[in-house]
Amino acid sequence: MRYPDDAEPVITLTSGPVNAYPDVLRGLGRTVLYDYDPAFQAFYEKVVEKAQEAMRLSTRPVILHGEPVLGLEAAAASLITPDDTVLNLASGVYGKGFGYWAKRYSLNLLEIETAYNEAIDPQAVRDMLARHPEVTVVCVCHHDTPSGTINPIDEIGAVVAEHGAYLIVDAVSSFGGMKTHPDECRADIYITGPNKCLGAPPGLTMAGISDRAWAKMKANPAAPRASMLSILDWETAWSRTEPFPFTPSVAEMNGLDVALDLYLAEGPEAVWARHALTAKATRAGIRAMGLELWAAREAIASPTTTAFRTPEGIDEAKLRHEVRARYGVVFSSGRGETLGRLTRIGHMGPTAQPIYAVTALAALAGALNAIGFKADPGAGVGAAMAEIDAVG
Ligand SMILES: *Cc1c(COP(=O)(O)O)cnc(C)c1O
Repeated sequence: MRYPDDAEPVITLTSGPVNAYPDVLRGLGRTVLYDYDPAFQAFYEKVVEKAQEAMRLSTRPVILHGEPVLGLEAAAASLITPDDTVLNLASGVYGKGFGYWAKRYSLNLLEIETAYNEAIDPQAVRDMLARHPEVTVVCVCHHDTPSGTINPIDEIGAVVAEHGAYLIVDAVSSFGGMKTHPDECRADIYITGPNKCLGAPPGLTMAGISDRAWAKMKANPAAPRASMLSILDWETAWSRTEPFPFTPSVAEMNGLDVALDLYLAEGPEAVWARHALTAKATRAGIRAMGLELWAAREAIASPTTTAFRTPEGIDEAKLRHEVRARYGVVFSSGRGETLGRLTRIGHMGPTAQPIYAVTALAALAGALNAIGFKADPGAGVGAAMAEIDAVG
């Protein structure tokens, strides 16, 4: 075994967290300022402004100081009340999981659940809302990462807006890697973070909040305050003249600042294009090696993660272990329902580079052959290169 389990791998091609950009790692090493130092307060305000620019948001986003699960749970706790009827849209493990949080705050929960290799149909949402005019909150996960599938949130958002319900969107693993912004999908709460496509470590949530979501949260007597789960506590913290409710994660803010600079300087369209091309090349290689994509249709396959079905007779954990032990390459497993049934190759932030599709496919082919599934590495790599070179 060339790469033992207790030594660092060569490259992490997972669906997050991913290794941060080198500049972000250097940013994490900046001076840790006292949070009430005027220089830090001014810096914090600037980072929030950059986040607003990156999110193309009409309101000021909120930074919460924990990885995005904090933001998702806080959204459910702050926005949903026992008087709400919630429609949860579940096309995968994260979408389904949000329903459990929603149910903690309102027992009136409806759900549309698809197969976990499918996507939510906006027409099904329209029909459901027509049958249930009482729905006041809709929740959807944009990229259900454990499936590598994308839901059409802009279309779903338009349907929800027509109905008048509030919309909560989990865009943790799509924002920054493809065209998605809170205003475009008419989200009332849009949760994302630095630890997927922005190429920074896990530790923060970025939340887009609409004016009417602020109003609804303020009117909710049970919305957390003086709590790690509070969104309301942070409403004015962006301003250099207002206090923080508690100490922000100073080093993580330093990292986020660099990640946002990199994203804006490269140009969002260019960043999305390299995510899309890396995924497209990977999908072509997967198919050329006789493997099957997990996503039911190419159109719903994620540009930030490629999931393929575990071949008959292959042990998925053994496959990933072989890839790591032989080549030092790390892939992600499925989760929950998809665990053991698929393997995921991430294309996020610094790993969203087309040539890494080649790395992933070569390692995958070698490992498959070693454990008894015949895969032609030349076919996989050739198909990927054809996609890459077609773009020039
Ligand atoms: C990564 C991710 C999160 C953050 O949660 P973890 O499971 O702790 O990584 C939330 N939602 C989605 C869709 C994600 O991909």
